[in-house]
Amino acid sequence: MAVQLQPEKQEAAAMPVAQVTVQDDPRTVMVLNYHKVVDEHMSLSVPLADFEQHMKWLKEYGYTSITPEELYEFIVNGSELPEKPVLITFDDGYKDNYTNAYPIMKKYGFKGTIFVVTGFLGVYDNYMTWEQAKELADNGFSIESHTYSHKSMTEASDEEISKELTKSRDTIKNKLGIDADFMAYPTGTYNLHIAELVQKAGYKGAFTIKYDNVSRESNVYALERVPIFHTENTNKDFLERIQYLPLLYKYGWVKN
Ligand SMILES: [Zn+2]
Repeated sequence: MAVQLQPEKQEAAAMPVAQVTVQDDPRTVMVLNYHKVVDEHMSLSVPLADFEQHMKWLKEYGYTSITPEELYEFIVNGSELPEKPVLITFDDGYKDNYTNAYPIMKKYGFKGTIFVVTGFLGVYDNYMTWEQAKELADNGFSIESHTYSHKSMTEASDEEISKELTKSRDTIKNKLGIDADFMAYPTGTYNLHIAELVQKAGYKGAFTIKYDNVSRESNVYALERVPIFHTENTNKDFLERIQYLPLLYKYGWVKN
């Protein structure tokens, strides 16, 4: 019988906590991928109440947020991670990451990683300013690269790709004084040749939107993530996604 431990006002939160099993394989790491956290009807926009529910669940299940650097150390140097690690990432660098997601994450003690399109920050209204990015960085968030102008890399020349990678890294260094050692492929598209260019540009690792958990067998230049979209029932989908991953992984259905 399902027992609802914590009745919630929100309709979507009626999913009984007792029915949920989360991934507990210590050898894998869940990397969540959000874009926007805002109340609007777009698939990339997760409503605030849903986002808060996700953070609340992660907190209740004992997850600890980690940084891309910690994930890298786990994969490459065999470092240990907290028992239930989660890397919470956001793509593009939207303003709502600062205004909406950040206060909620702070409330639950989580840190995030934001892959910013460096040519868009402080230029377009719906993107963060560099001051906002700085505040996040000063408070434990990782600000990483999502290239300079968000060109799909499979449609760009080698020269263009290298320029996008270098320019974004340099901009983050200039604006924030930090080294962006990781990047996320714009639109998720990449191939092995592009991964090589990323490595040559000095990045330690790169994130895709390949749907799976990260393990020590993962390619550091093609790291898996679990995309979280706004759907008819974002919270149910969220639970299903984090719940079934270990099974899909176990049976080799989602591993290349
Ligand atoms: Zn993007």
